[in-house]
Amino acid sequence: MNIILLGPPGAGKGTQARMLVDERDMVQLSTGDMLREAKDSGTEMGKIVADVMARGALVTDEIVIGLIREKLETVKASGFIFDGFPRTLAQADALGELLEAEGQTLDAVIEMRVDDAALVARIVARSTCGSCGEVYNDTTRPIPADGKCANCGGTEFKRRADDNEESLRTRLMEYYKQTSPLIGYYYAKEMLSRVDGLAEIEAVQSEIREVLDA
Ligand code: AMP
Repeated sequence: MNIILLGPPGAGKGTQARMLVDERDMVQLSTGDMLREAKDSGTEMGKIVADVMARGALVTDEIVIGLIREKLETVKASGFIFDGFPRTLAQADALGELLEAEGQTLDAVIEMRVDDAALVARIVARSTCGSCGEVYNDTTRPIPADGKCANCGGTEFKRRADDNEESLRTRLMEYYKQTSPLIGYYYAKEMLSRVDGLAEIEAVQSEIREVLDA
């Protein structure tokens, strides 16, 4: 089963994707994570995307489609969770073609709905474990008092360079201009389901479970 988690930055796509990985043995394909890895390891592509990402703008379709193509051709999995991809109509078309070429289908697109004010509050309070990527929030899910990640015991936590109000504004604008048309695109393909991304993490998880088991 292959699914897309669709929603603005801070909607909780990464958190939910990780839970599905644990629960269903699926593979999470996050283009944001792949691009951050390329940036941190200083590859040629990483250097090209660093500035674009820091501003909160979108990396070119060509680059991200190339990343996804490579994964689909090389990683074998019982299912993929696309997290942060596709973000444009061209990427959505490309994903359909890539899956078809691999003899696979797209089974569900889950839109995680949240209101904009909540997103800003969430994002500026967000940090992640440097070892496993577990997500924390200063107010709703603080780093454990012993300073150890609840998931892996890691002791280093980081904040994303683009989790600040200025680049968030650009990221939100990009979402509304380029990504939100995908809601209509997948609705028309009769693939779209919606969940309330503002509910408690476990409640969102069970809504997603219901969609996938339907
Ligand atoms: P994310 O971790 O999904 O919030 O992505 C972080 C940043 O990586 C975005 O703000 C973009 O600059 C870039 N990015 C990630 N995925 C894509 C994509 N599918 N298309 C274009 N840019 C992307």
